[in-house]
Amino acid sequence: MSAPLTIIGSGMAGLGLLRALRALDAGRPVTLITADGGDDYSKPLLSAGFAKRLPPDRLAARSALRVAEELGAVVRTHTRVEAIDLAARTLQIGAEELPWSELVLATGAAPAVPFSVPDTLAGRVFTVNDLDDYRAFHGALAALGRPGRVAIVGAGLVGCEFANDLLAGGHEVSLMAPEAAPLVRLLPEPLGRALGEAFQEAGMRLAMGVGVRAIETAGAKVALALGDGNRCEADLILVATGLKPRTALAEAAGLAVSAAGIPTDRHLATAAPGVHALGDAACVDGVNAMYVQPLQAGAKALARTLTGTPTPVHYGPWPVVVKTPLLPVVALPPARPPARWRIEGKAGDLAALAESEDGRLIGFALTGACVRRKVELARVAPPLLG
Ligand SMILES: Cc1cc2nc3c(=O)[nH]c(=O)nc-3n(C[C@H](O)[C@H](O)[C@H](O)COP(=O)(O)OP(=O)(O)OC[C@H]3O[C@@H](n4cnc5c(N)ncnc54)[C@H](O)[C@@H]3O)c2cc1C
Repeated sequence: MSAPLTIIGSGMAGLGLLRALRALDAGRPVTLITADGGDDYSKPLLSAGFAKRLPPDRLAARSALRVAEELGAVVRTHTRVEAIDLAARTLQIGAEELPWSELVLATGAAPAVPFSVPDTLAGRVFTVNDLDDYRAFHGALAALGRPGRVAIVGAGLVGCEFANDLLAGGHEVSLMAPEAAPLVRLLPEPLGRALGEAFQEAGMRLAMGVGVRAIETAGAKVALALGDGNRCEADLILVATGLKPRTALAEAAGLAVSAAGIPTDRHLATAAPGVHALGDAACVDGVNAMYVQPLQAGAKALARTLTGTPTPVHYGPWPVVVKTPLLPVVALPPARPPARWRIEGKAGDLAALAESEDGRLIGFALTGACVRRKVELARVAPPLLG
């Protein structure tokens, strides 16, 4: 029997590819290997579950077993691939050597934590980047038996979404980051400040412009020692200081990688014959877009390529919708620094237009009532990957 097409990773990229493949080819042997539980779930729901009081199991659409049955694949869960032999076309899992015919690296991105966390605080300090993490964090919060005091470190998309969601879920939330305002990678500062104000008006404690020096125990609680000399005590700490593409497997196999991911061309092909990369792990023609729409487009294009119709992927001008109902935010960050930001509106209802030297729109950011301009502006903005 010939070796199967093998996908490493059961996130939205790996499972999305399997689904797209099955729509085109019902019979090809496919093996999907994942280090986690392999549940089919939508990762964006992780930072929207507390307000809706969703228990972890309600977030999973189907189990790995159901995925295997419905999509006709061998699914191996809680199985970590340790090495890839590109010449022999095998994967190493413990003592086992598993052959592959073609390989797709959909290994995602891992939390980047810029300070050390003492082992004794493992049950109090969390990152939430998959359903298993969500289960652990949700369980620790529920075990308090009362609304928790949660300190969130990092005010990017993930930190801000969790902050809004936990507050809406009845918890006490402090949000801190070294930047001057929330969402610096998505919003010019005045819009970030508007989001910070909306958070504060709703009762959140906000400490912007301060970094974390250390995490310490404080009796039954845990404390953050901050760069400005203050301390912030909490029941639990959620660290949301960014994600970095998981490239270690590819790199150890001999592929050149960068901080932006595993480089591929528009066909999601890496430099190694028969090996593709997709989703958060991949840097496609110089672009690492760690969002759902780009990985869905990639999964569809790669499914066609793998079934005999070479198909390059295109990313449209797809804005990011940040799930902060306290102040809705939509952003299409410009690919390069704009010549100027033109900011219109007042209070929390702001539209920031990023313009090139010759006055063309190259990106935008919207808050409050201005988010309704999303479609109109996206129509004239440049694609992420044309
Ligand atoms: C809290 C949160 C909210 C988000 N909200 C949004 C949103 O609203 N809109 C949006 O567009 N995007 C959002 N995103 C981003 C989006 O969810 C991600 O871009 C997407 O889910 C990434 O999918 P992936 O399959 O590439 O990676 P992952 O989901 O990280 O999956 C990686 C898979 O690889 C497996 N793996 C890794 N290494 C190995 C190994 N050595 N052996 C075996 N398996 C391995 C893992 O177990 C996992 O199954 C959010 C992200 C987070 C964290």
